[in-house]
Amino acid sequence: MTASEGVANPFLSVRKLNKLFGAFHALKDIDLDVARGEFVCFLGPSGCGKTTLLRAIAGLDPQNSGQITIGGRDVSNAPPSERDFGIVFQSYALFPNLTVAKNVGYGLVNRGRPRAEIAARVAELLALVGLPEQGEKFPGQLSGGQQQRVALARALATSPGLLLLDEPLSALDAKVRVRLRDQIRALQQQLGVTTIMVTHDQEEALAMADRIVVMNHGVIEQIGSPAEIYGAPKTPFVADFVGHMTFLDAVVAGPGRVRVGALEFLVAGDAGHPAGSSVRLAMRPETVRTRSIRDDEPNRFEARIGELAFLGSFCRATLEPTGSAGCRITAEFSANAIRDLAIAEGQVRAVSFPPESLRVFAGFPS
Ligand code: ATP
Repeated sequence: MTASEGVANPFLSVRKLNKLFGAFHALKDIDLDVARGEFVCFLGPSGCGKTTLLRAIAGLDPQNSGQITIGGRDVSNAPPSERDFGIVFQSYALFPNLTVAKNVGYGLVNRGRPRAEIAARVAELLALVGLPEQGEKFPGQLSGGQQQRVALARALATSPGLLLLDEPLSALDAKVRVRLRDQIRALQQQLGVTTIMVTHDQEEALAMADRIVVMNHGVIEQIGSPAEIYGAPKTPFVADFVGHMTFLDAVVAGPGRVRVGALEFLVAGDAGHPAGSSVRLAMRPETVRTRSIRDDEPNRFEARIGELAFLGSFCRATLEPTGSAGCRITAEFSANAIRDLAIAEGQVRAVSFPPESLRVFAGFPS
């Protein structure tokens, strides 16, 4: 993978970045380019290095080796104050003894801006984040979502080139989180500010990002648009971490064909694994078809509907293809399909797996 994939004139560049905590190698040779105006999410499980990478970019926890360029300037050894970013933390980190207006204007006061200019800018920012009347309150008098919007206004006050968001939504309850997510994205697009957000929430990353950087154990597994990450994961880790995926142990039967027990699947992209090699066949639950299936449809099998879990607008079913003992596949059917086709536990139904929806990964070494 090349870091500069699709980024002609990056605003932020990270090259060969390494970070160690004692003997622990937290970031390994990270390469990353972010375009001007882009919204990028760092996504990955707890401990994969997302926050460490964000803090290294900010200069808050300098790297051991590697280069960071922001806006064409090499800031690898620059202190945070010379890196032109605003930052928002999960815990808001507002000054509790200062009013909302003073919190927002803090960076401008530090820069010695004239009082009238600060007042005008603070009013502008509070209006921008939807809190025009709240300037004289103290942070403790606001809800969590409101406090986070104040933190956002504060981060934007000096019009930084780069906005860094470290899990800004994870302390909020579900409804507020979704609302603020949409507001942050809209604001980012309105201002065009280059933004990096750390999250472990895949839905958040898929909904907000132009591109997602999926991290695991201190390395970047894949960089891509939400559609690429979800639809064309390059590694089993990405496939498994983002969305649901069934993995089946399989053997390559020939070009474009893999066998799972007694079942043979046609696959559109078999990644060139040689015949006889062990692979893993991966399929997304929502790509399994059960409506209007033709007799000659590729990858058409009979399957028993095992457990059926109602999840609101859709149901998740466990399929057990007949004639292939032990093979279990997760499928999702819309609530409409369940009703129209009267799908129920214990039925045996025809299902099919479109070849282009199947992915083949290298198998576990034996
Ligand atoms: P989370 O979502 O849990 O915050 P993360 O992906 O942001 O996870 P980091 O906080 O970047 O993870 O941490 C990466 C690894 O580095 C973890 O294993 C963590 O324990 C370790 N680490 C982070 N900060 C320090 C530190 N100051 N000293 C020692 N180890 C650290």
